[in-house]
Amino acid sequence: MTESDLQKKIESLEKQVHELEKDLIHDNLTSLKTRSFFEEELNTYLSAIANVDLGKRREWFGFKNLSVLFFDIDHFKQINDTYGHAMGDTVLRDVAKTISEDLREGDTVARWGGEEVVACLLGADETDAKRKAESIRKKIEKLIFDSNPDLKVTISIGVSSNFPKARAEDLVKNADLALYKAKRTGRNKVVAFSEL
Ligand code: GH3
Ligand code: MG
Ligand code: MG
Repeated sequence: MTESDLQKKIESLEKQVHELEKDLIHDNLTSLKTRSFFEEELNTYLSAIANVDLGKRREWFGFKNLSVLFFDIDHFKQINDTYGHAMGDTVLRDVAKTISEDLREGDTVARWGGEEVVACLLGADETDAKRKAESIRKKIEKLIFDSNPDLKVTISIGVSSNFPKARAEDLVKNADLALYKAKRTGRNKVVAFSEL
C-alpha cells in the first residue's frame, strides 16, 4: 500500500468513526439528541453552575439560570389510530423540528421516548422558559400537514428551573410533574413546576 493509499484509508476510517459517533447521540426518526446524551449534557451544565456557586469559576459556561421543558404530544395514540403510524411519524418529525427551530443553537433538544421531547434552555429562568414554551405551543397548534389538512396537533409542556444542588433527574422529574398537571387540566397548555 502506498503512502497516499494509506492516507485515503485513514481518512475513510475517520469518516466512519464520525458517522458512528453521530448515530450514537442522535435519535434516528427525529434527528434530535438521545435521552442519555441529554442527561449527560444537563448534568455538565448543572455542575458548572454549582462550581460557580462554590467560587470556582473555571468551568463556568457564563450563565446561572437553566430551565427544562418537557413536551408531550396530546392524544398522539389517536393520531396514529386515525391517520396511521406513518403519519404519526411525520407528526413527530415536524413537532421535533418546530421545537428545535424555536430554541437557541446551544440548547439541547432530545427525544425522551415515544412522543416525548425534552429541552434544556441555557440561561433561561422560569419566566423566560415559560414564554418560550408558550411560543412553541402556539406554533405547533398552527402546523398544517399537506397530506392531511384537517389534522390538528397540540402539545402540553411542563417547565422546571434549576435550584441549588439540582441534578438532571430532579429537573426532569419536576418538569414531568408540571406536564402531568397540564394534561390533567385540559392539555394544549404550559404549566410550570412553581404553579403546582
Ligand atoms: P396524552 O394526551 O395523555 O399524552 O395521550 P397520548 O395518546 O399521546 O399518550 P399515550 O401514552 O396513550 O400514547 C402514546 C402513543 O405514542 C402510543 C404509541 O404507539 C405512540 N408512539 C410512540 N412512539 C412512536 C413512534 O415512534 N411513532 C409513532 N407513529 N407513534 C409512536
Ligand atoms: Mg407520553
Ligand atoms: Mg402524549
